[in-house]
Amino acid sequence: MRVIDAHGLIVAPGFIDPHTHTFDDLSSPQRHGNIAYLMQGVTTVITGNDGTSPLPIGSALQKWDQQGIGTNAALLVGMCSVRRQVMGMSDAAPSPAQLEQMKQLVAQGMNDGAFGMSAGLFYAPCSFAATEEVIELSKVAGEKHGYYDTHMRDEGSYSIDLLGSIREAIRIGREAKLPVHISHIKALGTDVWGQSSEAIRIIREAKAQGIDVTADQYPYNASGTSLVPVLVPRWAEAGGRDQMLKRFDDPGTRPRLLAEMEQNLKRRGGAQSLLITASADSRATGNNLQQIADERHESPLSAAIELIKAGSNDVASFNMSEADIENFMKQDFVMTGSDGSPGHPRKFGTFPRKIREYALRRRVVSLPFAIRSSSALAAESLGIKERGWLRVGYFADVIVFDERTIADQATYEKPELLATGMRYVMVNGKLAVEDGKYNGTLAGKALRRNAQ
Ligand SMILES: [Zn+2]
Repeated sequence: MRVIDAHGLIVAPGFIDPHTHTFDDLSSPQRHGNIAYLMQGVTTVITGNDGTSPLPIGSALQKWDQQGIGTNAALLVGMCSVRRQVMGMSDAAPSPAQLEQMKQLVAQGMNDGAFGMSAGLFYAPCSFAATEEVIELSKVAGEKHGYYDTHMRDEGSYSIDLLGSIREAIRIGREAKLPVHISHIKALGTDVWGQSSEAIRIIREAKAQGIDVTADQYPYNASGTSLVPVLVPRWAEAGGRDQMLKRFDDPGTRPRLLAEMEQNLKRRGGAQSLLITASADSRATGNNLQQIADERHESPLSAAIELIKAGSNDVASFNMSEADIENFMKQDFVMTGSDGSPGHPRKFGTFPRKIREYALRRRVVSLPFAIRSSSALAAESLGIKERGWLRVGYFADVIVFDERTIADQATYEKPELLATGMRYVMVNGKLAVEDGKYNGTLAGKALRRNAQ
């Protein structure tokens, strides 16, 4: 028997992250330890969010079983991947036969062990789906006890607005009869700053009517995404990337496209608010769009179009107010979720940052509240059984951390610095972090909703 002296330290249930982009890491023979998360005290991650997942998901889960993973991991079946497989990048409504095919893919995902269906209605091709289509597909997930996880159609003022999107998500839950989980809840852009209170009121009203609504949030004022969805209107993406590139140069579409991109840039807070964190054009990385434009003696939009033509571009988009972040964080239905992606410090820092900055320093929430929102709340709301609490008979996902040293280290300049303060992390009863260091253990399990 091994005894760990936890005097003066905090012992808590392992953290659960409901929104990650860890699929590639977990599937890689080098990065499957998931160390960015273990060092934050995260013992279970969900991935396949924002509507994008592998298809079929069964083989991905099997690969994790065979290869071993450092944390527990669960998958959602991605509605955008499903739509893309059946309809490509078409902006049309599905025929009855296509809808049937999509339903079968969602059903297969659920049968393979998905915890629910994710959608990314902000992104093409999911953006081309009417609410009714999302409802039909969500019904399949709901019948199999899954939940609906959404990157909403609009978190700002792009199309149906933040509040319209919250109402849409709730309608999907009501009509498809399944729990709704709103990913990375935020008020994106100055147009909607201050609307967190009204968003919360609408959600509380729905909950009072018996609709199960939860959300997650990362504690940063910049989102992380890529340049095309940020600036280019969705209609210009119909048919795929080649079609979009043609529209940039087509005199019939170019003026409207540029005018709308100008609007979108304004929504995001201007060119200075967009930091390029990774780019096919490596000279751009680490600069904001204004700096790139100045250096090249061109307008921010021209610079952006050049970058888009060169290939993919990850951006950190500074678009949130601290008042809204704090307001959402205080709600008892809002859990911690990293949405971790390359180039943004949230992948390595979310959970410790919430504790260090928002609980211990600013006292926006208490430490127990922060811990619950990072563990039990996710387990109970998202159907992860026998985890999320320190309880006899539960899986031993246990963390021990030092309240004095727990902190995020990752920054926008150095987004891959490991967090500090986690002394011990136990996954399924096995120590993976000892004395503050990852020991190489692969004790995670591939979780299946229908086999818990
Ligand atoms: Zn998202």
